[in-house]
Amino acid sequence: MYYFYYLPFSVNKPAELKKMEIKTLLTGAFLLLGMSCITNGISSPNFITDEEFKQAELLSSSKPFTNDTPPLILPPQDTARFQTRAVGMRIWTNAQVPYMLDAKFTADMRVRVAEAINNFHKNTCIRFVPKQNRHTSWVKILYDDNVCGLAHMCMNNGAQFAKFGGGCVTSGVMTHELGHTLCLGHEQTRQDRDNWIGFDTSKCSPPGKDDLPFGLHKLYDYVSIEHYEGECYNGCYLPKQPGVTKCGSGGSLSVLDIELLNEMYGCNSDCLGYRFVNRNSLTSSSNMVLIGWEADGTPLYNCRVYHQGDIIPGKYHTASKNCDIVWGGREYAKGGSDQIEVLTNPHSNALRWVRSDTLPAGAIRGGRTASRETLYVVSCLNNNRNWMPGSYHVSGGGYYGFGGSEFKCKSGDMEFLVCT
Ligand SMILES: [Zn+2]
Repeated sequence: MYYFYYLPFSVNKPAELKKMEIKTLLTGAFLLLGMSCITNGISSPNFITDEEFKQAELLSSSKPFTNDTPPLILPPQDTARFQTRAVGMRIWTNAQVPYMLDAKFTADMRVRVAEAINNFHKNTCIRFVPKQNRHTSWVKILYDDNVCGLAHMCMNNGAQFAKFGGGCVTSGVMTHELGHTLCLGHEQTRQDRDNWIGFDTSKCSPPGKDDLPFGLHKLYDYVSIEHYEGECYNGCYLPKQPGVTKCGSGGSLSVLDIELLNEMYGCNSDCLGYRFVNRNSLTSSSNMVLIGWEADGTPLYNCRVYHQGDIIPGKYHTASKNCDIVWGGREYAKGGSDQIEVLTNPHSNALRWVRSDTLPAGAIRGGRTASRETLYVVSCLNNNRNWMPGSYHVSGGGYYGFGGSEFKCKSGDMEFLVCT
């Protein structure tokens, strides 16, 4: 017996649920029949081919960086189906997700799914693998015109689905749904969301809260792939942080989504094993990453904090527990009630500094702007004397703070933290 509940905007409707379950069974039956179906004389395998992954990669890399990504269409029927009390909130064993594809997919739909899977493969150690007989839990990736997107949460027993359809056949919607498969809930339903977001109840009913344990007490991520977009723009959701201009990721995984998945799934390799930890949760074994020194020799570490909608890397003082960041020409000492996270290297991975004026491969991401541009962790030489923690973005360059002011990193005087 499973317990389901729906999020958000909906109430339990047992009759509808029953209908959906029957439909799912029928879809499954069709899928089994469809596996041997031949279209135009060519049979497509029920997994993504290497060629399709390559096509998807080309498609993704040809998309220019833009701050004006239209909102993802994720209407209220994108409802994560929870079965938390029945089987627990299990993540996938060994970070492997066996999957099989709907035989109804067109070539174009298959490439959309490949793009979505690439988002996880390129940024985490999670791997979607073709289902084999020995697998006892697997996800069917389906097309269903009656939904925008819908997925079971977390790893279940036996078959479960992640589907997209209607006007929502995009890699972004599938990435969102596969995020649910991996046990990511909606950002706006996490337990501590009231600290970060309010609701105009004249425009909508606040969504319920979920009871997922992942990512709590980390910085709230307005631009998560799992954050609804349209509700921020229609005035229903009211971000409590000043300067928040965007909600949702625009279709890919956000910087914080990637970090959370790597932590959940124990991705500990050199390029995935660093962690941003709440300053109040640091321990003697946290292994904070040394970034530079004050003029008096005080060691400085990397931290990050919200300011005007950006999550900005800056310098962390262990004595004051403050995080100094620069914004708009000034340096700000953030502390008090600000939620501050500190960069740590708990697995003692090989991180190193690379002197460069432009973004090198393997640069460690530290945050992002309100408009979703990635901010990287850098250290810059101040007056040829001291290395100071700073932040770099491709469209603007590197900056650091000193003596209350903001300075641009000089050519030849900037180092990026990179994984090998
Ligand atoms: Zn969803």
